Amino acid sequence: MKHYSCDLCGRPISDERYTARIEIAAAFDPEKLAPVSPDEDPLEQIAEEIEALEDTGQFHLPETGPKTFEFDLCPTCQRRLSRDPLNRAARKQLNFSPN
Ligand SMILES: [Zn+2]
Repeated sequence: MKHYSCDLCGRPISDERYTARIEIAAAFDPEKLAPVSPDEDPLEQIAEEIEALEDTGQFHLPETGPKTFEFDLCPTCQRRLSRDPLNRAARKQLNFSPN
């Protein structure tokens, strides 16, 4: 039997497991986007990326493709996420100054 743990709080999940799926996709058509400015030659950018790849082993190209994340949640985190899916309350707390 597979054992799950909560992706948010790390606690083991017994029977009451929830899953949350977040899909991030471009809401625009990348093909119809304005062409890059003459200064930014996409081929040159790619060449620079390849150079960087050789240096660092990391490759960063702009990504527009859809991304899907799936999380296992315990009941507690499921309730929390249902109330505030983007965790905006926590951001407000971070920005809150005690003065
Ligand atoms: Zn949890």
